[in-house]
Amino acid sequence: MAKILRCAFCSGTGKDPFDLLSPISSCLVCSGTGIVEVEVPAITCVFCSGTGKNPLGARVPCIVCGGKGHNRCAGDTKCTQCNGTGRSTDALPCTRCGGKGMI
Ligand SMILES: [Zn+2]
Ligand SMILES: [Zn+2]
Ligand SMILES: [Zn+2]
Repeated sequence: MAKILRCAFCSGTGKDPFDLLSPISSCLVCSGTGIVEVEVPAITCVFCSGTGKNPLGARVPCIVCGGKGHNRCAGDTKCTQCNGTGRSTDALPCTRCGGKGMI
């Protein structure tokens, strides 16, 4: 099962939000369609707060959700290692939950 969501990385525009290659280059997450498929049940990516952008500052898609802004829900228990934030102490994805915050 999967559902169609607006691509978080480009906000559904289908264009590269950072104009890395050229202003008309397609979003590398959704290949220019503006939509992405996410396996259900899906939860908002806590690592990038659903923006799809890498919170570490690099102008690349979030390494946890791949730029989609959502992750397939892995469980309904808050990860105790990161307390649901999806982050480890050095701002990298939590090693226990993989950055999803839930296990
Ligand atoms: Zn996109
Ligand atoms: Zn993310
Ligand atoms: Zn965790």
